[in-house]
Amino acid sequence: MGRIRILPDQVANKIAAGEVVERPASVVKELLENSLDAGATDLRIEVESGGRRLIRIVDDGCGMLRDDALLAFERHATSKLRDVKDLVSIATLGFRGEALPSIGSVSRLLLETRSAEETTGTRIEIAGGKMLRCEEAALGGGTSITVRDLFYNVPARRKFLRTEQTELAHIASLVTHYSLAHPDKTFLLHSGPTELLHVTPVATLEERVYQVFGSQALENLVEIGVREREMFLPPPSVPPSQGVAEYQREPDDPPTRIFRLTGFFSRPQVQKANRNSIFIFVNRRLIRDRLLMHALGSAYHNLMPASSYPFALLFLECDPAEVDVNVHPSKTEVRFRHGSFVHDFVRDTIRERLVETRPAPSFSPAASSAAAVQPAARLPYSEFSQMIEDVGQVSGQVSELPEAPEAPPAGDLPPFVLRPAPSPAQRLDFSAPPLEVAPGPPPSGKLSRRLDDHGEFPPEAIPPPEMSLSVLSDLRPLGQIHESFIVAAGRDGLWIIDQHVAHERILFEQVMKQRAAGRVEVQRLLMPLVLTLTPEQQIDYARIADELRASGFETEPFGNRTIAVKAAPAAVSAADLERVLFEILETAEGELRNASLDDLRRGICASIACRAAIKINTRLDASKMAWLLHALAETDCPMSCPHGRPIAMHYSTREILKAFHRI
Ligand code: ADP
Ligand code: MG
Repeated sequence: MGRIRILPDQVANKIAAGEVVERPASVVKELLENSLDAGATDLRIEVESGGRRLIRIVDDGCGMLRDDALLAFERHATSKLRDVKDLVSIATLGFRGEALPSIGSVSRLLLETRSAEETTGTRIEIAGGKMLRCEEAALGGGTSITVRDLFYNVPARRKFLRTEQTELAHIASLVTHYSLAHPDKTFLLHSGPTELLHVTPVATLEERVYQVFGSQALENLVEIGVREREMFLPPPSVPPSQGVAEYQREPDDPPTRIFRLTGFFSRPQVQKANRNSIFIFVNRRLIRDRLLMHALGSAYHNLMPASSYPFALLFLECDPAEVDVNVHPSKTEVRFRHGSFVHDFVRDTIRERLVETRPAPSFSPAASSAAAVQPAARLPYSEFSQMIEDVGQVSGQVSELPEAPEAPPAGDLPPFVLRPAPSPAQRLDFSAPPLEVAPGPPPSGKLSRRLDDHGEFPPEAIPPPEMSLSVLSDLRPLGQIHESFIVAAGRDGLWIIDQHVAHERILFEQVMKQRAAGRVEVQRLLMPLVLTLTPEQQIDYARIADELRASGFETEPFGNRTIAVKAAPAAVSAADLERVLFEILETAEGELRNASLDDLRRGICASIACRAAIKINTRLDASKMAWLLHALAETDCPMSCPHGRPIAMHYSTREILKAFHRI
């Protein structure tokens, strides 16, 4: 791999000693990254006792020349940079020359390597940072590194290790996700006799997702495809303060930068309790980044309750000069030179794809009303993730954050159940007794023979399952349940639609469009409405006054902590006005205090829409129902209300047939 040079202090200073190796998973991460940097296409990883007893990684990469192999254990020696300047544009996964010496100082390490340029290989043995042996050996090409007895000489560290299963689950998750970033390579992960992952090269990410998670998980994911956005850099003559902070274009830099996003994310009905199912790669480096997490969250804004998270596998690629990877000891955080550009690109791309696919939640006969947010799993459900999580269960101890806090329900892929209205369900006020929508026992697997022939259902009459809600446009309303839910027959099966949230979605999009066009329909009040604000509300009011005006609320300060409302959006009735305004102020002081203008605007529009929407427990005649369904079909996001609740449930013909054992 060429000559290894000692790195200057700039890099070394940023790392506190020992931070590189925190736990077995960090050892695996560093070793994997080295193999990938060495161009390996076949990576075999073996782990015993949660990685403490043994971690071995064998690769078919370029190997090391003997001299380089010795240098690799010198601190801050790396073959991946030639110059300090390279630090601002790092294309490899490693760059500090920290990992091997750190790992060698807390374990017994055996390195076996041979470069194609040498006829014999090199075997080096190290224990607790001391070189015990260095000899010539007959070896195949590539590198094998075996790490035994991790932290044997650092008892304090050893004590902090979690259970074997927890450490193993971390390692499995890590290897899995690196395998997703490299569909063209083989990854084999073994723990003792158990094969945890074995994937062979495939041509596309989709095939790799299929290999790892199975077809059912794939069905609930949306593929981004390849989306790009070009950024124009300021000319070199523009000083950084006028252009973009801390970055100045060099005269020979190209004038534009391309950012590319690929990967998968889940439909809004997949709701996880935390961020553990979000995996973000920047230039194939697995990172945890707040900016990108936030961009992803914003994409789902108004489609998912604020407290739940999607599954996502995002690959962002850009010029290495656009991202500083040298800001965190274990390289898991990065800093973008043009953060807000990247943020908006990711948010817009995902939002666009969400709108394009307009998926409908399917009505699951097995859905239990007790089902809440799905337990957060690091992986979507599949045999594989189940296995990993089962491993985590054995010890009975499942650990802190980056772990799955609960086991997913046993059995097949659990249906993505619709969430019950989140509490407090202020806006849903059932005076009638609770609904019972009990479609009978779940279909119990495949029937081996037809029990009785009650008349054939012509197979061509079963439409292919359709995920898009565009089918809403030709729904035939049949009636209402509890004067709250519209039941409708469609091209493919039965639909149940929550009339309030459906109308809320329609109004929300209407108000947003009017707002964007600067043409909000306004209605003057006969008498101004005078409201008294708390000091806190007064501050929030001052902050959002402009946005309120643009949304159709004409307000004026009127003495101390009092405002007079003279006009309001036409959609809001005078009786509701006070509540809408207080609700907006409440959101503005809570979740939206640090939110962007865009989020604030959406919050205001959502409040208006919610107040103005048809309530539940309201009788609708057939023409009103038909109008509502039609208008819903025209919306961009007919699947969930602006607060993230589902709007429609779909019981497909196929599911109906299955339930009646006709297929
Ligand atoms: P870094 O990756 O930051 O350069 P490391 O301590 O991880 O530092 O590795 C030190 C050096 O050892 C690398 O720069 C590389 O030259 C060499 N090396 C490590 N692992 C491998 C491998 N699997 N194949 C080839 N070379 C390797
Ligand atoms: Mg490295």
